[in-house]
Amino acid sequence: MLIVQKYGGTSVGSLERMENVAAKVGRARLAGHAVVVVVSAMSGETDRLLKLARPLTDEISAPREVDVLLATGEQVNIALMAMTLKKQGIPARSYTGFQVAVHTDSAHTKARIIKIDHERLRADIEKGIVPVIAGFQGVDEHGDITTLGRGGSDTTAVAIAAALGADECQIYTDVDGVYTTDPRIVPEARRLKQITVEEMLEMASLGSKVLQIRSVAFAGKYRVRLRVLSSFLDESEGTLITFEENKNMEEAVISGIAFQRNEAKIVVQGVPDRPGLASQILDPVAKANINIDMIVQNASIDGLTDFSFTVERQDFKEALAIVESLRESIGAKAVFSDGRIAKVSVIGVGMRTHAGIAAKMFSTFADEGINIQMISTSEIKISVVIEEKYLELAVRALHEAFQLNQDNI
Ligand code: ADP
Ligand code: ASP
Ligand code: MG
Repeated sequence: MLIVQKYGGTSVGSLERMENVAAKVGRARLAGHAVVVVVSAMSGETDRLLKLARPLTDEISAPREVDVLLATGEQVNIALMAMTLKKQGIPARSYTGFQVAVHTDSAHTKARIIKIDHERLRADIEKGIVPVIAGFQGVDEHGDITTLGRGGSDTTAVAIAAALGADECQIYTDVDGVYTTDPRIVPEARRLKQITVEEMLEMASLGSKVLQIRSVAFAGKYRVRLRVLSSFLDESEGTLITFEENKNMEEAVISGIAFQRNEAKIVVQGVPDRPGLASQILDPVAKANINIDMIVQNASIDGLTDFSFTVERQDFKEALAIVESLRESIGAKAVFSDGRIAKVSVIGVGMRTHAGIAAKMFSTFADEGINIQMISTSEIKISVVIEEKYLELAVRALHEAFQLNQDNI
């Protein structure tokens, strides 16, 4: 088999841990597999680099330079990882994104992979050499270094696996798979043996950072067999991301709970309800490159309505300033905001065939005295906005109400 193994920041956070990774690579080779390694920067390094630049600039003013800076974290680690492998007698060669080359668009700090040249990697594999590739980075058409957004090494690994037609892409991290919810918040959370691509996409986009959302999208598009595993435990089979629902999975109505802190809400109150209202409010916000998440418009009373939406907290001040500047021209009575909200979502393909999930979610919140501020649903998920201080309580209560800690898969 040809296996792409990606090791996250904690897994390659020290030379000692790299020895452990090299031993894992060695065992896979002994079992007869060819291995390609993708590494992240050491844990905390990307944050440290960002902080270093903070007194000088930021991602918005100097995105090209920020990318040059951030890419160093992974570059350090490919060199150290290749050295560690060689020390253990495993032939290895390090590659930056530029050297591979991982071609991306020019959207610095959030670039998208367009194409991967794989000739050099193939030549190494044929010679029994382990290519060690820097995750999270690429090169654009001008030859400039780009990065793929936080958590982007996952996407590098899946894209490399797709380009090479690998048999499996293994994401090694500090937990032994995808859990019913973040085990740091709910210690009783249970590892899922498998989860569908569709569910994993929702989990990732609704806040579970165990896999970067684009890596899941890539796996779905190119049918890459993707597995999340622990770099510290050897016996666990981790979690397999599947393309089809199997019969057992149907029995579990909810597969997981995701949550996102760092949201903020803006409410435009008492605005005349007329066609074009939503675009009048949201277009200027979108033009400022601010992502709008949940949107709710109330039924109008006497021709007036309330219009609310949420944004990421980092964009809150800017979005609020834009909406306040529009208040008079759209004829709104007032603009309110709340910078301390959070979003909790339950996710599961079983929702398609089971009724009453929303009712159960809402009654769980009622029992805990948690007020629901906004609701949004899709075929396989229900998301609600609540006060941030209730977030952990909400996640734990839902986990229990939906019996996620029981072994029902
Ligand atoms: P890496 O540095 O290896 O990429 P990340 O920190 O990006 O690791 O992702 C792993 C972390 O994701 C875990 O430590 C865990 O706290 C968090 N996480 C959030 N939601 C989940 C979930 N549903 N299942 C497993 N881990 C989760
Ligand atoms: N080092 C980058 C980050 O911290 C990429 C990654 O770890 O996947 O976001
Ligand atoms: Mg990660």
